[in-house]
Amino acid sequence: MGFGDSAILPQWVNVLVDYGGQPATYTYAIPAGLNVQVGDILTVPFRHQSIGAIALALVTTPPANLLPDQIRSVEGIVEQRFFAPPYWALLQRVADHYQVPLMQVLKTALPPGLLARSQRRLRLKRDRLPLAVPDALPPGAIALLDDLQRSRSADYTWPYLQKRGHSYRAIQQLIQLGWVESYLAPPQPPKTKQRQAVTLVCGDVLPSELSPRQQDILATLRRQGGDLWLSDALQLCQTTSPTLKRLTQAGCLVIEPREQLRTEAGPTLTADRPKPLTPDQATALNYINRSQQGSQFLLHGVTGSGKTEVYLQAIAPRLAAGQSALVLVPEIGLTPQLTDRFRRRFGDQVWVYHSGLSDGERYDTWRQSLKPFKPLVIVGTRSAIFMPLPNLGLIILDEEHDSSYKQDVAPCYHARTVARWRAELENCPLVLGSATPSLETWVQCQGLGKSQTEPVGSALPTISPKPTDFPAAEAHQSPSPPSKPGTSPPHPPIPPSPHSPIHPLSPHSLPWTYLSLPQRVQAQPLPEVNVIDMREELQDGNRSILSRPLQTALTQMKSDGNQGLLFIHRRGHSSFVSCRSCGHVMMCPHCDVSLSYHQPGAHSPMTLRCHYCGFSQGHPKHCPQCSSPYLKHFGSGTQRVVNAIAETFPELSCIRFDSDTTRTKGAHRALLTRFAEGGADLLVGTQMLTKGIDLPQVTLVGIIAADGLLYMNDYWASERALQMLIQVAGRAGRGRQPGQVMLQTYTPDHPVVEAVTRHAYEGFIAEEWAQRQMLQYPPAGQMILLRLSSTEAELVQQTAERLAHDVTQLLGDSDYQLLGPAPAPIPRVARRFRWHLLIKGPLHQPLPNVQGLKQHCPAAVSLTIDVDPLNLA
Ligand code: ADP
Ligand code: ZN
Ligand code: ZN
Repeated sequence: MGFGDSAILPQWVNVLVDYGGQPATYTYAIPAGLNVQVGDILTVPFRHQSIGAIALALVTTPPANLLPDQIRSVEGIVEQRFFAPPYWALLQRVADHYQVPLMQVLKTALPPGLLARSQRRLRLKRDRLPLAVPDALPPGAIALLDDLQRSRSADYTWPYLQKRGHSYRAIQQLIQLGWVESYLAPPQPPKTKQRQAVTLVCGDVLPSELSPRQQDILATLRRQGGDLWLSDALQLCQTTSPTLKRLTQAGCLVIEPREQLRTEAGPTLTADRPKPLTPDQATALNYINRSQQGSQFLLHGVTGSGKTEVYLQAIAPRLAAGQSALVLVPEIGLTPQLTDRFRRRFGDQVWVYHSGLSDGERYDTWRQSLKPFKPLVIVGTRSAIFMPLPNLGLIILDEEHDSSYKQDVAPCYHARTVARWRAELENCPLVLGSATPSLETWVQCQGLGKSQTEPVGSALPTISPKPTDFPAAEAHQSPSPPSKPGTSPPHPPIPPSPHSPIHPLSPHSLPWTYLSLPQRVQAQPLPEVNVIDMREELQDGNRSILSRPLQTALTQMKSDGNQGLLFIHRRGHSSFVSCRSCGHVMMCPHCDVSLSYHQPGAHSPMTLRCHYCGFSQGHPKHCPQCSSPYLKHFGSGTQRVVNAIAETFPELSCIRFDSDTTRTKGAHRALLTRFAEGGADLLVGTQMLTKGIDLPQVTLVGIIAADGLLYMNDYWASERALQMLIQVAGRAGRGRQPGQVMLQTYTPDHPVVEAVTRHAYEGFIAEEWAQRQMLQYPPAGQMILLRLSSTEAELVQQTAERLAHDVTQLLGDSDYQLLGPAPAPIPRVARRFRWHLLIKGPLHQPLPNVQGLKQHCPAAVSLTIDVDPLNLA
C-alpha cells in the first residue's frame, strides 16, 4: 500500500446524528472507495439500526479514545452535497465568531428533528436479483426478500420492516448483495392538514329573524370575502362556536373541514401590481438591481417612504431569473401585514418561517426550501437567515436597527451580522432598510471607524452636512449613473487603509452603498411632534395620565372620524404594585425584580406577573407585609390607559395591543384587521406598535410616557429610545391627512426628545458616535459579555472570580481589558444568581477566544458567551 497517499486521505468523518431528538456528533470510518464530502447525508449504523447522519468534517486522525478498529464504518451516501458548501461555511463562521460549538449552531439553524423525520426507505432492485435465490442465504434475508417481493412497489420504510420483525443484519445482507438499496426519501410536498373553515352562503338579503349581533357577524364575514378559517372567524367577530353554529342552522353559514397546507397561513388576498416608483425609489432600485455580486445597501427611508415597495421590485427580477430571496423582519407582530403585501405581489412563492410555527410547519418549510421546485421568497424572523435556500439572489433585512435580530441565548448571533456573511459567501446583495439605522450600520456605511489612526474630529463632519435634514435623494456609492456599473471608484466605502488589517471575519468586507428616501410617498409631511411637559400638567392640577393637549387632540380626532395609536413603554418599572401603608413592593419570589400587573380584559381578574421568569400569581387582597388592604398600582400599563380613556372619553373605543392580548396564534392579525376596518378608534399598545404598522387613517399618535425609555442603563439606551420614538411617531399621517404626535414627558429637554421633535436623526447619531468612541463602546469597540448563573449564590461568585483570573491571564498585555466580575444588574432571575464579566477592546483586533473557560466552570454554573452583546442586563 502506498504510504504517501493514504496518509493524507481523510479516513474518518465526524457526523451529526439526531437519535431520539438528541443531536450528537460521532466519528465513523470511511470505507475505501466511498467519496464522502462535508454536507453529505449518510447512512450510518447506530446501535441496532441504520440511521441518517450529516457529514460535518473529514478527519485524518481517529478520536484519541478509540482504536481504529472499534470505529464503525459509514454504510453509504444517501445524498451528496445535501447542503451547499457556502451554507456549511456560514454555520462554521457563526460557530467561530460567536464562540460556540458547531452543534449549537446546527440546533439553531436546522429545524427540529431534521434527520429523524427524513424518511429512510428500502427499495428492491428487481433487475439485480438472480434467477434463483442461492441456498446459502440466511433465513432472515430470505424472509425479507419475500416480503419485499410480495409488495407491488417493493419499497418500504426502514422502521416498518423492522416492525415486521426483519433484523438490521438481514437488511444489511441484502444491501451488500446489491439487491436492495437504502435511500432517504426526497422532500415530500407539504402534508396537508384538515381545518375547520367557515363559508358564507346567504345572499345579500338576510333572514329577518336574525338579531343585530348576528347580522353584525355576517357583515364582518362578508367584508373578509365570506370564506375564513373557523379560528380566524371567531377571533375576528369576537364570537363563539355555538353562535356560529346557530347561524349555520339558520342557513347563513357552512362550517366544514378543509385542507390546509402546512406551509401556508392567512386569508386569500387580492393580487397587486408594482406601483410606478417615485424618483427616489427608482434611483434606489436601480442601484440594487444592477448589483450582481456581494454588496450591501443601507436603504435609509423615513417611515412611509416606500421602502417595502423597493424591496418588492428588487425581488421581482431575481425571481424571474430563477433566484430566491430572503426577507427578514424583526418580529412576528409585524409579519401579517408585511407578508400579505408580499403574497399579493408574488402569490404562493411567498413562504413564512418563524418560531411561532409548529415543529411540523417549520420542518416542512425548511426541508422544502432546500430544493424548491420554484424560486421562493421566504419572509421570516431572525432564524430564517439560516434557511438553506440554494441560488439565493437577494437578502433583505427590514427595520435593521431592531434588537430582536440578536438572540440572547447561545449562539448569541445577530441576524444582521450573519446576513452579511451569507451575502458575502453567496455573493449576493444585502439590503438593510430602516428609518432609523443602527449606529453600527451607519458608521460602517459611512466608512467611519475604519482606522484607529484617523483623528476622531475629522471623521465626524462627514456623517451629515445638514444634521436636521436627510441628505439629498441620491445614492452615495458612485457618481456615475446607475446604467454604467463600476466605472468609477465608490465614494464611501473608503478602501481599507493599510493600518487597519481586516480580520477574515470582519463584517466590513462587502462594499457599501448608501441609498436614501428622504420623503414620504406623495410627499406627505412627517407628522408634527408636540412635546408636552407633564410637570406643568401636574402643577396645574391635572393628575390624569392624559395631558390636556392630548385630550384635545383625541376629541379632534374623533370628530374628524380618524383613528389614533397610544403608545406605552412597558418594560422596566412601568407597572408595579406597592402598599400605601408600608411601602412594600410586590416582588417576584424568584427574581430581583418587581411584579407587573396584568389584566387581559376589562372584566378578567388582575394578575401579577414577572417579565423575566414568567412567574404569575393572583392579585393579593392585602399587603403580605402589613396586611393593609390599601394597595396602589404604579405606572401606566396598557390596561390603565384603556381605563383612563374609558373614564374620560366613554365615546372612544379601544383595542389593546400588547403581549396579553396577542398571546394566541393569529391574534395579531385579527386585532390589526379589526382596527384597520374601523372596529375601534384607538389602538393602545406597547413596543409592538412601533413595528411596520401602516394604516393610512391613523392621524394621531400619543406617547403616554417617554421617560421609561429614556432612562435605561445600557450603553445604547439613547440610540434605542430615539429609534423607538421615531418609529412610533412615524405611524401618524401616512394617509392623505397630516399626522400629529403628542409626546408626553417629564424631561422635555432630554436630547432624545429634542431629536424626535426635529426628526433629526443624523445629528443625534453623530453625537452618539462621538460618545461611543470616547468610551470605546460598540460600534467603536468590541465586547464579549460572559454571563454566569447558578442556583448556588456562593458557587457562582467563586466561579466568576476564578474566571476573572483566567481571563486576565488570557488577555495578557493585549489591548483588551476585563471589567468585573460583578453581579448582573438584575442579580437574580428565575432563582438563578447571576454574575457578569465584560471583556472590552478596540476594533480591528481579533477577539480573544474564551471558549476554554467553559472547562473551568463547575457543572452547576452555566456560562453563556455573548459576543457583541446588545443587552448588558
Ligand atoms: P415604508 O416601508 O418605507 O414604511 P411603504 O412601502 O409601506 O413604506 O409605503 C408607504 C405607503 O405608500 C404604502 O401604503 C405603499 O403602498 C405606498 N406606496 C409605496 N410606494 C408607492 C408608489 N411608488 N406609489 C404609490 N404608493 C406607494
Ligand atoms: Zn404593607
Ligand atoms: Zn421572576
